[in-house]
Amino acid sequence: QKADRLDKLLSNLGYGARKDVRLWIKEGWVTVDGKPATSPAQKVLPDQVQLEGKSLDHPHGLTLIYHKPIGTVCSRKENGRLIFADFPERWIDRKPPLSSVGRLDKETSGLLIVTDDGQLNHMLTSPKKHIAKTYSVTLDRPLAGNESEIFASGELLLEGDDKPCLPAELTVLGETSASLVLHEGRYHQVRRMFAAVGNHVTALTRTHIGALGLDACGLGEGEYTVTSAQALLELV
Ligand code: URA
Repeated sequence: QKADRLDKLLSNLGYGARKDVRLWIKEGWVTVDGKPATSPAQKVLPDQVQLEGKSLDHPHGLTLIYHKPIGTVCSRKENGRLIFADFPERWIDRKPPLSSVGRLDKETSGLLIVTDDGQLNHMLTSPKKHIAKTYSVTLDRPLAGNESEIFASGELLLEGDDKPCLPAELTVLGETSASLVLHEGRYHQVRRMFAAVGNHVTALTRTHIGALGLDACGLGEGEYTVTSAQALLELV
């Protein structure tokens, strides 16, 4: 464990700017080992510190399992309501920053991991790790019957891409509904795959990341649970 300056610690956890922290120390709202903090430059470990009598908010890293609703965006660069609106306000200012593991489109709902752990993020997206993602798809038109074969072929070339899609497994559930397992994550991949076979996706939900299932998580849309990198790696 690494000791950090008190003002840096609190501001990196999103509590406020360093000048705010300085004021809180003056006011006596910050304690270290139960005694009023003396200086913003004091070197501290997170577990020694309390703010207004409360322990700090996940100071050792933060990983969430989140049920993304339709209509929110994963990236600060996109327009629209951010997924962060579903989390405590201060989390958007944490450093290192929280970010989603891969992305779901604005119009896609379902299972999303959000973490400030760069290594975990990399591990979950790395093609080497090969974590399958499962999507539940609703279509505009009835399935033609040959889609499973086309998606499994490893030869489906999407418009604008120079490599064909890796084989993907389609399970037909009804005339206009199916589930699709992907082993890669390209931009709008599910929607583009169905567009390539002359159909149109009208509703899309990610139901699984590896073995982790949305239903088993018991999360309503917009809800999340805090987990840890280690616990998560055992679930996926
Ligand atoms: N495929 C899509 O088209 N959209 C997503 O959000 C995820 C996979």
